[in-house]
Amino acid sequence: MAETNTVHSPIVTYASMLSLLAFCPPFVILLWYTMVHADGSVSQTWDFLKQHGLQGFINIWPRPTALAWKIIACYAAFEAALQLLLPGKRVEGPISPQGNRPIYKANGVAAYIVTLVTYLGLWWFGIFNPSIVYDHLGEIFSALIFGSFFFCVFLYIKGHVAPSSTDSGSCGNIIMDFYWGMELYPRIGKNFDIKVFTNCRFGMMAWAVLALTYCIKQYDQNGKVADSMLVNTILMLVYVTKFFWWEAGYWNTMDIAHDRAGFYICWGCLVWVPSLYTSPGMYLVNHPVNLGTQLAIYILVAGILCIYINYDCDRQRQVFRRTNGKCTVWGKAPSKIVASYTTSSGETKSSLLLTSGWWGLSRHFHYVPEILAAFFWTVPALFNHFLPYFYVIFLTILLFDRAKRDDDRCRSKYGKYWKLYCEKVPYRIIPGIY
Ligand code: NDP
Repeated sequence: MAETNTVHSPIVTYASMLSLLAFCPPFVILLWYTMVHADGSVSQTWDFLKQHGLQGFINIWPRPTALAWKIIACYAAFEAALQLLLPGKRVEGPISPQGNRPIYKANGVAAYIVTLVTYLGLWWFGIFNPSIVYDHLGEIFSALIFGSFFFCVFLYIKGHVAPSSTDSGSCGNIIMDFYWGMELYPRIGKNFDIKVFTNCRFGMMAWAVLALTYCIKQYDQNGKVADSMLVNTILMLVYVTKFFWWEAGYWNTMDIAHDRAGFYICWGCLVWVPSLYTSPGMYLVNHPVNLGTQLAIYILVAGILCIYINYDCDRQRQVFRRTNGKCTVWGKAPSKIVASYTTSSGETKSSLLLTSGWWGLSRHFHYVPEILAAFFWTVPALFNHFLPYFYVIFLTILLFDRAKRDDDRCRSKYGKYWKLYCEKVPYRIIPGIY
């Protein structure tokens, strides 16, 4: 039987699952419509819907066009080819609950560079203008919504009939299986890892590609790029660059090592990341705010600092684990807990928990700079509209929920050792407050 990841009560789990399944797709369309056609104003969209009702909403939902499918197919095929063909170091993932160790090819940075250079090259040499992507964004999101849904159905069926490893199985409930996923490490053939594709090479890569797209669209529209757009684009690109630099580390995180490939993770990465995560840039295209050099630089520096701290938290934990605690943390020998646990096959193993450095401030301190960085790439939009800040609010809720899910999972994995960690490091996210 598969683990179902239900840390909330069954009723909350069902309610949140069904509402996410029902509301996320229309939300993506309303977000795009508001940003691109309603001046970023929620009340303008609300008035439109009040006046025109459900039919009005159906009318604004763009039908997926052949061009949209073509753009998605070319992008997906290109990214899949890079994932398969570019050289990279062999990297071992963490041991799975069933005792398997997934093997990856770490070629994320190369794929990232090739993608951005190709995209900018296509624009520079007049072969493909990224503005086309912005002009057809609604159709592209619509195609992504439906295409990704069917992709999740494929994952569900594959999990039943042809799982790639023993880290798979049904929890006995079709909605849960579809939502949380059937397989931890689904692959096509031996080498094509589906979660690396959906989460990293499609979703995160699309974030960088769309950030550039919005910038180029503003340039095409106005003949120049406002400093607010520049700050937003640079910060989002620094963040995504950091992600690919650290991609092999990401393969050790909850998304990959604990969450199965289902609607929650895969649809989220295929649709939610390209739409919601890029939305502050989408807003700025038609709102070229001028910040002035000094303010722009302050925001840029603050954002880069937050991205660096977030990276350093992840790096600190990973170096500590990789060296078995034989490293220095903030210039000193690390303080730690040796936590033993039993795998689902009954074996006893142990992990080290770091209790100094960033990980001694709070148990999930890395979420603080993550949320602040998102704030800094949004704040160039200033405060005329609420919607650009939706991503920051969503991220805050997501990470607070994730901290709880992770704490609950670690408590059941490490038992008294986790209790000891909580005594030593009593705050969950914000030191001294929460
Ligand atoms: P991680 O998976 O990297 O860290 C949590 C895991 O680390 C735990 O499950 C536990 O795993 C281990 N661990 C916990 N405490 C300690 C400790 N004290 N010492 C050593 N190991 C410990 O967290 P996330 O996946 O949540 O975050 C990774 C990165 O991704 C962060 O930078 C985060 O901000 C970012 N992120 C961004 C999101 C976005 O949408 N923008 C969403 C989610 C994350 P084990 O079982 O191995 O002990």
